[in-house]
Amino acid sequence: MAEITRDVLIIGAGAAGLTAANDLRKAGLSVAVLEARDRVGGRLWTDVIEGAMLEIGGQWVSPDQDALKDAIEELGLETYSRYREGDSVYVGPDGQSHRFTGEMFPVAPETEAVIAEITERLDAMVAEIDPDRPWAHAKAEEWDTVTWDAWLRAQTDDDEAVRNLAFATGTAMLTKPTHSFSLLQSLLMAASAGSYSNLVDADFILDKRVVGGLQQVPQRLAERLGDDVLLNQPVRSLEWGPNGVKATTDDLTVSARYAILAHAPVLYSRISFVPPLPRRQHQMHQHLSMGFVIKVHAVYETPFWRKDGLSATAFSPYELVHEAYDNTNHGDERGTLVGFVSDANADGVFELSAEERKERILESLSHYYGDEAKNPVVYYESDWGSEEWTRGAYAASFDMGGLHRYGADLRTPVGPIHFACSDLAGAGYQHVDGAIRMGQLAASNIVDAIRD
Ligand code: FAD
Repeated sequence: MAEITRDVLIIGAGAAGLTAANDLRKAGLSVAVLEARDRVGGRLWTDVIEGAMLEIGGQWVSPDQDALKDAIEELGLETYSRYREGDSVYVGPDGQSHRFTGEMFPVAPETEAVIAEITERLDAMVAEIDPDRPWAHAKAEEWDTVTWDAWLRAQTDDDEAVRNLAFATGTAMLTKPTHSFSLLQSLLMAASAGSYSNLVDADFILDKRVVGGLQQVPQRLAERLGDDVLLNQPVRSLEWGPNGVKATTDDLTVSARYAILAHAPVLYSRISFVPPLPRRQHQMHQHLSMGFVIKVHAVYETPFWRKDGLSATAFSPYELVHEAYDNTNHGDERGTLVGFVSDANADGVFELSAEERKERILESLSHYYGDEAKNPVVYYESDWGSEEWTRGAYAASFDMGGLHRYGADLRTPVGPIHFACSDLAGAGYQHVDGAIRMGQLAASNIVDAIRD
């Protein structure tokens, strides 16, 4: 068994871990990044499938994501805007598709008024929430013990309004059924993006992409670290105490003064901690779980929807594919659609054969774009639920009541062990921006601790 020693060992070569490692290096500390997979990037992964370049994990950048935007600029990467010219499409409860422009879905005027009024109220509540400390709000307990669905249904009996309001933080973001998480968790999701309105504005939240794919952020960060990034090294155990830490993989031990756990919290229990983590962490980590969404990629000879005056932006709380967009790569002549199938719908289609699933999903896309959508030249489903080192998508969130009960300890170090991941972030929560912020925070806390 090979043995190495560093100042800090980092478990996970995603955006969080690689940001932390680079910051620690800049502060003059030595690092080793241990990565379970045979590649860096974690939930950022660009691959070529049947000749089509696809971003299998995260890809979009929004204007408020300063930490990510700074990283993109500093790493010399270029961005481009998502195609958004033309009409959007909404499929209503009658199953009919309606074209529209702007942010408000083409619903009946009474429903529109309800959506506008509740959105205003939500924006006011979100403005009171500090995304880094949602548990500190005076009403945190009250808001964390009512489900997102129940709270919305207590505001109005207009079902279409409820479904459309629930959608932004539920199906589309936390990717869990809206009865399974709290109003407070929903407000955190919105606060992490600046406001509830920002989150429902596709032009804001899905603004830009990186030419060549967002995985280049972790790839370039890893290049700077060279041999200090070690692939195929799943950490099996972590000994810790006042004198430091020792991580063991299948063929390596790394000793260090500090460790950063830089992966999804649902995977902490894959590591044997010696001694065990404290009771508080044991309990807290059981109340965090991954959402589940399938990202569907369909590539066509041309972006055929554009000639019909469609932007390809499409939504429906009634459709299997609840949202879809033009995802054509920069400079590509072929057209790509990306669509999402979330929570219970995702469970349902995984009961089907691959052929049936594809047929159902393409059928749903055709409700937005017509029959041409049924015949892509390349079709691919990103299935993060079956990835051993992720186990869901997009990220982890607390179950009912967990956020006010445990949230304040999410990022609290345990002895020499620090925690960093997008799933623990306030601003940029569940996004690459949050991963980078958490990587920076863990690194600066360790640098401060060493200086003290
Ligand atoms: P991860 O990327 O999960 O990295 C953790 C790393 O740790 C992994 O490489 C894993 O293999 C490794 N690891 C785990 N356990 C061990 C162990 N025991 N030993 C060693 N290594 C281990 N975000 C956006 O900003 N924009 C988007 O458009 C967007 N879309 C998304 C679409 C999908 C389908 C998915 C899945 C995510 C999306 N996200 C998006 C979220 C974003 O990708 C993540 O929030 C972010 O990449 C997480 O980074 P991280 O470093 O915190 O964790």
